[in-house]
Formats: sequence, structure tokens, C-alpha cells
Amino acid sequence: MSLNPVYLPNAIPLPIADEELREIVDKSKDWAVMHGAAMRNKNSFCKDAVQIAPFSLIPSCFPRKEFNKAVALQPILNELMHRVAHDQLFLTECLRETIQVDEFTGNLFKIFETVQNEGITQPISLALLRSDLMLETIPTFSCCKQVEINSIASGFGWLGPVSAEIHRFVLHQLGYGDQIVNLPENNALQGLCGGMIEAWKIYGNENAAILFVIEEVTINICDQRFHEFEIYRMSPQTKVVRKTLTEIANKAKLGPNNELIIDGIHMAVVYFRSGYEPEAYPSKKEWDARLLIERSQAIKCPSIQYHLAGTKKVQQALARSGALDMFLTEAKKIEAIKEIFTGLYSLDFDEFGDQAVQMALDEPERFVLKPQREGGGNNIYGMDVKKAMLEMKNSKERTAWILMERIHPPVSKSYIIRPGDKNLPILEDVISELGIYGVVIGDSQKILVNRQVGHMLRTKLSSADEGGVAAGFGALDSPFLIDLD
Ligand code: ADP
Ligand code: MG
Repeated sequence: MSLNPVYLPNAIPLPIADEELREIVDKSKDWAVMHGAAMRNKNSFCKDAVQIAPFSLIPSCFPRKEFNKAVALQPILNELMHRVAHDQLFLTECLRETIQVDEFTGNLFKIFETVQNEGITQPISLALLRSDLMLETIPTFSCCKQVEINSIASGFGWLGPVSAEIHRFVLHQLGYGDQIVNLPENNALQGLCGGMIEAWKIYGNENAAILFVIEEVTINICDQRFHEFEIYRMSPQTKVVRKTLTEIANKAKLGPNNELIIDGIHMAVVYFRSGYEPEAYPSKKEWDARLLIERSQAIKCPSIQYHLAGTKKVQQALARSGALDMFLTEAKKIEAIKEIFTGLYSLDFDEFGDQAVQMALDEPERFVLKPQREGGGNNIYGMDVKKAMLEMKNSKERTAWILMERIHPPVSKSYIIRPGDKNLPILEDVISELGIYGVVIGDSQKILVNRQVGHMLRTKLSSADEGGVAAGFGALDSPFLIDLD
């Protein structure tokens, strides 16, 4: 097994001479901030200002064939996720051990059980999914492997497409306008907002609003607001309301037919941009608010069962031999999904779990250790995998984690433009993660809408473990499609 990185070619000849680089960096930063490729400043938060989001000056190359395959696969993944979300027994089995030791997932599961026992008020769910993928190069250059699938707060519906706009501008300015044909069209924002508007129409009350559930402090404000502005552009009569879970806890009530009412406004659709992390629930009342939403008539994005279907434990269970056959009948679809799965192992207290513990102790660098968390910064890598495993191998805590084979994506050269950086950027070795968006609307019996709606690319230093942009690890990017063979 070779650990020498595989390099992708550059989209344009690099390096760029200093003078030209200085000019294009200044220009592209202004372009970015003036077109909403921006975020709030985490360290000196101010509601009146945004600054550039970190971005890659030049798009990273991505094999066209693999890109097209990932796009084509998304409706199949959508179908799979929809079926999984509606299989109560499967979710219960998958999460049985985990919810005993992971309080957060346990609380989500309690809400799931409660509404299942009471009877579901709103059978229709809206899912805005994002399947995250990396190219694998070990032992040989092969297809995309799935990092995870997000079923809650799948962000960057705006920051994804705008990154390609930055790159169109930059390539033109540098004299490579003929190359922009290699930047694929990306209508993620319209696709995702279109899904929300369709759900709003299905709900069928023109006066009802779409509720965005937001964090106390929103750093990734442009991404969220552009969703709101796009909904307004596409459907001016659809009102959008933003509230934190704490505000919802204080103000929301259910009407006589379980209508979700906040400040006298009836909510048709609830879109969670928060609520996937323990910090969103500082007290019991936020959990009560989540339960209240779940009990309501509103169409949830995601509903609690979709949230649970997006946990890493479920991802791992789906990679077990025979699991996909429970949800999909066509062998071609099953094979296509299997191809993107990398090794995923449970750490339950059984023969398989013990084997996985041993593998992690023997070759920790081969794996990533993941808890049931979202939003970046929670996983364990490299030699820390061994340390963590030694600490928890005899405790029940290990069942809250999964073990995943590490993916080794190819390396590109890039200039990363970071906010506040006064120096001229230097060429750095980076790796990328592609996200493909899917929209699904349906109930336990039928799927009404199933679409692939766009993509995003995030890039980070090849030496970094994690790549979240809002979390401060990664940079916005867009794929520049190339033909390798
Ligand atoms: P989160 O829900 O916190 O986003 P992820 O599973 O997406 O968790 O992991 C966070 C990041 O860690 C990913 O964006 C990716 O950069 C890196 N990562 C996760 N799993 C792997 C893996 N199997 N191989 C290589 N890198 C990984
Ligand atoms: Mg992720």
C-alpha cells in the first residue's frame, strides 16, 4: 500500500506571478463579499457586517466521470433514505445500544417513540439531503466514497453555487474564460428552496409560513438568508420566519388541529438549521419545543425519523451485508450504492464489535472514529484512535461510536484565501469533499418528489483531518471537471 499522494492536475497553469496574484486576490475578495460568499466574523460578531468566507482562488479538478456518477446516484440514495426513515423497526434496532449511552441521540429517539406511539400527525416529510463524498486513491485511484449523508441542516445551498460564480469571474479575469465550460451548472439554491415551497404548497394554507429554526448566533448567515431571499423570489407570498428553539419554547403552541402557531402565525413547514447539536438544547424546554414541533401538523425538514436516519450509526448499519436489500429491490441500484460505501464497523459488544476494536488498535491510522454528532470537529483520527479505543474498549460508551475506514483523496494545488490574511497566499496541497444535494417529499407509502438538485465542493489542507467551512477548517471551492482517461 503506497502512501504517496496522488496529485490531480491544475485547472490552469500555476503558480500565478506575484503581481497578477495580488490583483486577482483583491478583486476576487471584493467580488466574494459583494455577492454573499461571506460569513459573520466569529471572533468579533457584529450583525452589521460580514466578511469573506474562506475560498479557493482556483477551482479544484474533479474527474467528470465520477462527478456524473455521484449526481446520477443521488435519487437512489434519496429513495434509500426515505425508506430507512420510514422503517421504525430498523431504526430502533440500529440505535438500540447507542441510545443507552449517548444521551443526545437518546433524547431524539424518545421524541421519535413518543410521536410513533401517539400516531403521526403529519405523515409527509420534506428531506433536503446532502451526500458527502471523497475520491479514494488507495490502493488505486477509484470512485467516490461516501463520508456521510446529512439529513438535517444540509447547508451551503447558496455558498456552493456562488463558489462557481467566483471561479467563473476569476478564470475570466486571468484570461481562461474558455475554460469555464468545465464548471458544471449548479442550481442548488433553487432546488432546495423549490423543495421547501413544494412542501408549503402541499400543506395547503396560503397564509401559513415557513419556519427556519436557527442557532442563538448565526455565523453562516449568508447561506441561510439567501435561502430565505430565494423563497421570496420564487414565491413572494410565502412568508419566512426565523426563531431559535428557545424562542419557540417560549412562544409556540398547538391549535385545535395541532397547527403549529407562533406569535399568531401558522407554520406550514419547519426547516431546521439548528437542533442537530447538544448545544441547541440548553435546557429541557428546548427539547419540549422539538417535541411540540414534531407533534404538530407542520411538515418538518427533517422529521424526527429522517433526523435519526441520518445518524452515523444508521450509515454503518446500512453498510452491513444484506442491509440494502431490505430497502431496494433492483440489484443495479444496490450495487451502485455499495460502490460508494467504505468499510464501516459497529463497536457493539459482540464478535464483530470486538474485531473492530482490535483492528483499530492494530492499525489506528487506517480509521476514523465517529460519535453520533454533526457539524464538524467531533471525530477522532490517527494515533488518537488507538488512545480513545484503549480508554473505552471495555465501557459501554464504545457503542455510541462507529469505526470508519479512512478515505485518501487525491491532492490538488491551490491558493486558499482566508479572511483577515494580509499576506499573499501561497500554493498549498489541498483535498476536496464533494456534496450532492437531494430533495425528497413523501410519506410512508409513497414518494411524491425525488430529485438531485445541485452540489457543493469544500477544500481543506491535505494535512487537516476535518474540513468544515463554518467550523473554520475548510474553504469554499467548486469542481472543475476533467477527463482522466
Ligand atoms: P460531521 O457530521 O461532523 O460533518 P463527518 O463524518 O462529515 O462529520 O466528518 C467530518 C469531516 O471529517 C469530513 O468533512 C471529512 O473532512 C473528515 N472525514 C470524515 N470521515 C472521513 C473518512 N472516512 N476519511 C477521511 N476523512 C474523513
Ligand atoms: Mg460532514
